Amino acid sequence: MRFETQAVHAGAEPDAETGALSPPLHLATTFRHGPAGERQAGYEYVRESNPTQTRLETALASLEQGRAALAFASGMAAMNALLESLPAGSHVLLPSDCYTGLRELAREFLPQRGLEASAVDMGDLKAVAAALRPNTRCVWLETPSNPLLQVADIGAIADLAHRHGAIVACDNTFATPALQQPLALGADVVMHSMTKYFGGHSDVMGGALVFGRSDELHEAVFHRRHITGAVLSPFNAWLILRGLRSLPARMAWHCANARRIAAFLAAHPRVAAVHYPGLASHPGHAIAARQMRDFGAMLSFQPHAGRDAALAVAGKLKLVTNATSLGGCESLIEHRASIEGPHPVSPPDLLRLSVGVEHVDDLIADLEQALS
Ligand SMILES: *Cc1c(COP(=O)(O)O)cnc(C)c1O
Repeated sequence: MRFETQAVHAGAEPDAETGALSPPLHLATTFRHGPAGERQAGYEYVRESNPTQTRLETALASLEQGRAALAFASGMAAMNALLESLPAGSHVLLPSDCYTGLRELAREFLPQRGLEASAVDMGDLKAVAAALRPNTRCVWLETPSNPLLQVADIGAIADLAHRHGAIVACDNTFATPALQQPLALGADVVMHSMTKYFGGHSDVMGGALVFGRSDELHEAVFHRRHITGAVLSPFNAWLILRGLRSLPARMAWHCANARRIAAFLAAHPRVAAVHYPGLASHPGHAIAARQMRDFGAMLSFQPHAGRDAALAVAGKLKLVTNATSLGGCESLIEHRASIEGPHPVSPPDLLRLSVGVEHVDDLIADLEQALS
């Protein structure tokens, strides 16, 4: 079955009791059991699992070609649950360009849990090999990465990591399984912020891990989620399930718009640099073309003349909104360095654009007037 069909039908069986096509939203926090705790349909208490979440997890495993999935309250909760499930004393190798939350987690919290972390340019395989330590247990990928859209070769890095006895986890938030399926390329675990393209309408938060095997790691993370409680609410699971149905259709439109905008910006005399893996000039273009179905709808660019010029462009946009986050129907722009907190790492003139599903000519007209 093709991805578009799977997205519409995964976890979408009509309700057995009523025939309802929209999945029932089970808000129950507790489920009747027998006098000795015998479960009726596998459920006991909402923090462990609930039927709406099970539907979502079934769909996620299917869309990422995985064996099991776990939904969380947020992308960060998912990421943290996986990293905290590594044995104490482990080293985690991170990409030098990555989501700010991961960098903060590694700087502030992982050391408290007895985990070491270091970062490397995942585009440089020799550097990756050299950065592996005897205790490296996890190589974390984010491809394309935030905010520079760097591309990592998932298959090649999985080979390196596996020979070393480390697992590969891949943050697939920017690409989504509509464009890239890391498990099929060799990764062991996929992580998502479902707050972005899965929800797709900037109105729901959630995170997920999808596992290539249902093994001890999946069991350990399931147990951790149950006990530490970073679970998704049933209503959020329901909203994200609804978002999944239109994911491939939205992604096709997002990508087509982004391709046009990247070309427009790359040709614009007031733009010094455009970071978009769909451009032939992008250093990761060949790898992205091999491992992705399309290049996504996130891009960043650097207008000529520095930070103030970049802020002026962001300030002049009328249709494209200045806001953080991404993956909704509306286009959003963000001056990265301004929102990276006390330790900004992005170039001071970098603007990140989440290309929405408006008409591309309206978006280009807005960018044109802002750059002029
Ligand atoms: C948003 C995001 C996260 C964090 O997800 P939340 O749902 O905000 O916790 C992680 N990785 C990437 C690439 C993201 O864009």
